[in-house]
Amino acid sequence: GDDKMSRVRRPCRIMILVNPQSGRGQALQLFTGHIQGMLTEASVPYTLVITEHQNHARELVRKADLSQWDALVILSGDGLLFEVINGLMDREDWQEAIQIPLGILPGGSGNALAASVHHYSQSPPAWNEELLLSCGFMLCKGLVGPLDLVSVHLASKQRLFSFLSLAWGFVADVDIESEKYRHVGAIRFLMGTLVRLASLRVYQGRLAYLPVKEAPKLSKGNSLLPDLEQPVPDTWTVVKEEDFVLVLAIYQSHLAEDLWTVPGAMADDGLIHLFYVTAGISRPALLRLFLAMEKGGHLACGCPHLVYEKVKALRLEPITPQGMITVDGEVVEYGPVQAQIHPGIARLMRG
Ligand code: ADP
Ligand code: MG
Repeated sequence: GDDKMSRVRRPCRIMILVNPQSGRGQALQLFTGHIQGMLTEASVPYTLVITEHQNHARELVRKADLSQWDALVILSGDGLLFEVINGLMDREDWQEAIQIPLGILPGGSGNALAASVHHYSQSPPAWNEELLLSCGFMLCKGLVGPLDLVSVHLASKQRLFSFLSLAWGFVADVDIESEKYRHVGAIRFLMGTLVRLASLRVYQGRLAYLPVKEAPKLSKGNSLLPDLEQPVPDTWTVVKEEDFVLVLAIYQSHLAEDLWTVPGAMADDGLIHLFYVTAGISRPALLRLFLAMEKGGHLACGCPHLVYEKVKALRLEPITPQGMITVDGEVVEYGPVQAQIHPGIARLMRG
């Protein structure tokens, strides 16, 4: 609700992090062509930081004097925001650090959060430069609201923080394989989907989740997750099927600019929207689901292989020895993984 919205301090000092390699390699030109003038017009002081390599932003944010900044804004794809959020959570003062308002400007080929934020503002769908302008405008308005994060626990004991998605199987494969088509922009996901459909695979694994209605009331800092080696509690649901085409946990409305995956999702609904597709789905049926997703119509396809649950936590244990797991579109170590929601622990600039 709007009661949770606040405004960033004025005049506000913004750090804008740009990944010059993201998308078609034009993020800097997007800044000078569309955003710079807008910020000047709105008298918003900013400092531009151009990343030089992967994890540059993560390191920088981990060590930065955050009292110097009123917001951190990313002009890139979702990958650079993933770095920034994890850089903030790496800090000893993470509880305070993660409160800094975060902003997103779409400059990558995967701009799921930008598409979601635009959607939450109840504006009609927009793509490319139009989406960028919409997000730039929101930045100038300076409204801030809560953002859920999901902690992801890996077998190596590593813990990551995610704002978008955890994917295994078809979606993860498409995301990573399609990176080689990054130069075509957002359409890379459709290209990747068509290529992957031709070599459709089944992945074996065990999936379990904590349904919303079974979840205890979350107080700050309490964990819903048992040890990864321990069995899941009785309140969890263990999925009977072990043959999947995909498992996707998503906590924003859009998986990509043209994939409206969760019709009812909000930035701070406190939910993990868990989708899975079981083996046996035909190629045309799977393609239909992804095409219907452009308008959020996949759940109305009546596909018996598609399951959707609202959950607070989940665990996935792949049995298939090799495969891909992605968090916010970035590859993580393959193996057992579990995750839980942390409602509203971050803050996001939105309309
Ligand atoms: P895209 O949507 O085009 O994939 P991302 O923002 O997701 O754009 O960035 C892609 C990858 O590039 C991410 O893994 C990110 O961490 C990494 N990255 C960030 N800055 C740089 C840089 N300067 N050079 C190369 N890679 C970078
Ligand atoms: Mg990316």
